[in-house]
Amino acid sequence: MKDSITKKAYGKINLSLDVLGRREDGYHLVKMVMQTVGIYDTLTIERAEEEEITLSTDSGVIPGGPDNLVWRAAKVCRREFGIRDGLRIHLEKRIPIAAGMAGGSTDAAAVFTGLRDLYAPEITNGRLRELALPLGADIPYCITGGTQLSEGIGEILTRLPAAPSNDLIVVKPDLYVSTGWVYGAYDSIPEAEVIHPDVDAQVQAIRDGDLYAMAAACGNVLEQKTGAEYPVIGELEQFLTEHGAVRAIMTGSGPAVFAIFDDHGKAETAFAALQSAKKYESCQKFLTGFVNP
Ligand code: ATP
Repeated sequence: MKDSITKKAYGKINLSLDVLGRREDGYHLVKMVMQTVGIYDTLTIERAEEEEITLSTDSGVIPGGPDNLVWRAAKVCRREFGIRDGLRIHLEKRIPIAAGMAGGSTDAAAVFTGLRDLYAPEITNGRLRELALPLGADIPYCITGGTQLSEGIGEILTRLPAAPSNDLIVVKPDLYVSTGWVYGAYDSIPEAEVIHPDVDAQVQAIRDGDLYAMAAACGNVLEQKTGAEYPVIGELEQFLTEHGAVRAIMTGSGPAVFAIFDDHGKAETAFAALQSAKKYESCQKFLTGFVNP
């Protein structure tokens, strides 16, 4: 048996995000198209003598101990896979934190798949998704990633053909937006005023391999209020579309914004303009693309 494993944990964007209602326990019922992107954290997991989990990270921002999703995922795996060894985990953080890119969820998913590969290769992805769901609704999607339709609270997953490939800019403004606030703000909008994206149209566009129809159907129901509260989100979208993006919207609960391009040269030019814009100096910026692991 190997003594260590290194995994890339990729972030995601929401090509679309709709909220269909709420469960009695308060969870929102969603319908969204998720897409893995080329921005990733790196996890190294080593077998250790000590009978415990230790976690180190190069991020000065996220918690290092039992509050980290990585630690919690490792604890579930130790119990479920009967792991007696201690585990030494190191997390190199590159995905913007609290951005709407499922950073914590994808790290947790990498722990589930990594420890399965090391200790319990017979465990299926389906079983991993069941074990992961109580830790976070986006973790089941992150177990395999790629292009997927996510429904229910995130546990009903339908794999789609890889979304039409393109260049992508992701920008995270330097502000903190609480996910709880975003959903609360969404709940305060009267239903008649909610602008729902056409997720079915987007799924069809992806099945047809039609980049323009897919981009036209991009929409995020959580942006209505969040965008009004934080104008920089809309300003970034306008900047990116004026610089050639086919479409730009907020991902997940925000505040990161992504822009889809139909041409690599246009994406590079827009990225250079973004990097030299004084106004967006403090933003985290990435020129990247879709990934289908
Ligand atoms: P989502 O798209 O699922 O809403 P997010 O991208 O908005 O997620 P995360 O980056 O996962 O948000 O971080 C949300 C919070 O979770 C942070 O405030 C952070 O302190 C906590 N957290 C716990 N573990 C991690 C982790 N491994 N990486 C990032 N954040 C973590």
